[in-house]
Amino acid sequence: MALIVQKYGGTSVGTTERIKNVARRVQASRERGDDVVVVVSAMSGETNRLLALAEEIGPNPPAREVDVLVSTGEQVTIALLTMALESIGTPARCYTGPQVRILTDSAHSRARILDIDAKQINDDLRLGRVVVVAGFQGVDESGAITTLGRGGSDTTAVAIAAALKADECQIYTDVDGVYTTDPRVVPKARRLERITVEEMLELASLGSKVLQIRSVEFAGKYKVPLRVLSSFKEGPGTLITYEENPMEEPLISGIAFNRDEAKLTVLGAPDVPGIAASILGPISDAGIEVDMIIQNVSTSGATDFTFTVHKRDYEQALKILQDNKDKLGAREIYGDPKIVKLSLVGVGMRSHAGVASTMFKALSAEGINIQMISTSEIKISVVVDEKYLELGVRTLHTAFGLDDENAQVEVEGDNA
Ligand code: ADP
Ligand code: ASP
Ligand code: MG
Repeated sequence: MALIVQKYGGTSVGTTERIKNVARRVQASRERGDDVVVVVSAMSGETNRLLALAEEIGPNPPAREVDVLVSTGEQVTIALLTMALESIGTPARCYTGPQVRILTDSAHSRARILDIDAKQINDDLRLGRVVVVAGFQGVDESGAITTLGRGGSDTTAVAIAAALKADECQIYTDVDGVYTTDPRVVPKARRLERITVEEMLELASLGSKVLQIRSVEFAGKYKVPLRVLSSFKEGPGTLITYEENPMEEPLISGIAFNRDEAKLTVLGAPDVPGIAASILGPISDAGIEVDMIIQNVSTSGATDFTFTVHKRDYEQALKILQDNKDKLGAREIYGDPKIVKLSLVGVGMRSHAGVASTMFKALSAEGINIQMISTSEIKISVVVDEKYLELGVRTLHTAFGLDDENAQVEVEGDNA
């Protein structure tokens, strides 16, 4: 008998019919003899609806109260799923994050899980019950409700699986696994049988939202057996692996893209020691995170310095640079929020040269200008004009031989 943690995302529990369908799946796992803990998201669109309500009240709502509000989405789903399970004769109990005691830090809207009390869950399992837990939420030391960031139910599921030492954590979603890229953008995307945890971490951090990055970090830290599957159709899904098989790894496993960054440039700043620190110091003092950075080589004693930030920080970062322009001795400050970052990820890159040049050639053949480049051992990212998002991803997908000519991808819902 195995202990399985199953997580069902928003689309999979988007209607009461779908919740009943999830109940039948859970019941089938029970009938195969497994103990099951289920983690659920809010019904699709619900978290956005709740956030919009807060916005209607006014700007900058208190973070503590926003978490009280948005955590209700998941509370609705756990109750409905538990009723659905009971109605088909499967004994079940549901708990919110605070009830289980998923202890987190106090960083509202992006809290980190510190500890999970497994006692209540284990007691219920021993009594033959399915345990249904609300994803995305916990409680801090002071008793305040916290939430774990968008997509946080993935992290709840993996963390519970780690705490219970579950045999497998299954993430059920609206696609049947992890694909070479988002199948909504590239219909010829191919499902991966398996992907290394390191590659999955890169894909998640570079913009693929199929798994929340923290869930992958957690899985890596505790070696949680993790699989991504469809809640709508049968299949093996994609297994996250913890070992590399150097001979078998493909050159490129996946392509990620991120629409959430904006670019800022300081033109004609004096090329003197400390200039990078004087440009970025005030940005980081404002709590703004910087992603990519380029500084041009100067011939004339002046240099151009470009970096990217999250779009939500764009206006503030631009203002900081403009306010500091004279102090920096810069000629001009320039910003562009209409960019997208495209990234290739693959552990196979470690042992192969030439990935970058293939990437650059493929993009230039389509007339796509590269504005910034950054590389690490298993990834290459470029920034291009946002209008090239789809063309760029499709071009790279073909150039690296990832296309599945027989693909008939089915994606449920509108991804809200
Ligand atoms: P859930 O509500 O179940 O948590 P999400 O919307 O968070 O689902 O994540 C699933 C979505 O992730 C898919 O519908 C797909 O559009 C998107 N996605 C992005 N990149 C990938 C990828 N490489 N493989 C699979 N899905 C991806
Ligand atoms: N409901 C939350 C969200 O939409 C958490 C989740 O679904 O994972 O981000
Ligand atoms: Mg998700």
